[in-house]
Amino acid sequence: QPVLEVRDLWKEYPVGDETVVALQNVTLNIMRGEICCIFGPSGSGKSTLLNQLSGLEKPTRGEVLIGGIPISRLSEEQLTNFRQRHLGFVFQSYNLLPQLTATENVALPLMFRGVPKPQREQAARELLARVGLSHRLNHFPSQMSGGQQQRVGIARAFITRPDIVFADEPTGNLDSKTTTQVMDMICSFARDFHQTVILVSHDPEMASYAHHIVTLRDGGIVGEQRTQHIEKER
Ligand code: ADP
Ligand code: ADP
Repeated sequence: QPVLEVRDLWKEYPVGDETVVALQNVTLNIMRGEICCIFGPSGSGKSTLLNQLSGLEKPTRGEVLIGGIPISRLSEEQLTNFRQRHLGFVFQSYNLLPQLTATENVALPLMFRGVPKPQREQAARELLARVGLSHRLNHFPSQMSGGQQQRVGIARAFITRPDIVFADEPTGNLDSKTTTQVMDMICSFARDFHQTVILVSHDPEMASYAHHIVTLRDGGIVGEQRTQHIEKER
């Protein structure tokens, strides 16, 4: 049973008198526990696809089901609720709140769910330890390196054990050593908690971390590979 099903998805944007077809005829299944990389050159429709899959935008046509729920039919309020409950996000630019510490940033999704402060901060400290940041619990984002901030971002995305974590170019601002660290952490969360990760990248190195590679060109799928997962020795 796939955690995410996409059926004949189209997205068009009006531009002046014209229509840009950003996605066409996308049909796709993503299984639980899978790391899926949406791969393709700039302008191929990767971000547009991610926006439809995560419910940020409504498709022009077609359907997206997460855990069997057709998310394009939810109201805005239901969708906001659904996203908080079932989805996690990792951003290229980290998107941490600058006035909160690492612990408070990671605990935030649990605050939205009404988890009391001592419990949520305990959970946040445990996840920060897991990403190797026990020595940065009370630091603010401005006091941390890019790699450290992204590790905080990863801990925040996984703290609610969401059905799917979406990551759009999560290492786009990081050097290659830090990229490896960050990707190893994302993979270890996915593996240990059997969680699904949908990754967007134009970088073949990133695709090499995936179980499932979906290649886009001009808004359509031009290739789909399920690769054997190989544990990387590092
Ligand atoms: P990628 O993420 O692979 O770089 P995008 O999804 O950003 O590609 O863009 C795919 C296509 O859709 C491009 O031709 C882009 O110009 C167009 N596009 C994306 N968003 C919009 C928008 N809001 N309005 C008009 N055109 C858009
Ligand atoms: P880690 O446990 O993530 O390895 P470190 O404190 O060893 O943490 O820092 C990792 C890298 O990030 C080092 O190269 C360090 O110079 C850099 N770094 C650490 N703190 C900052 C900061 N506040 N601003 C910029 N770079 C930093």
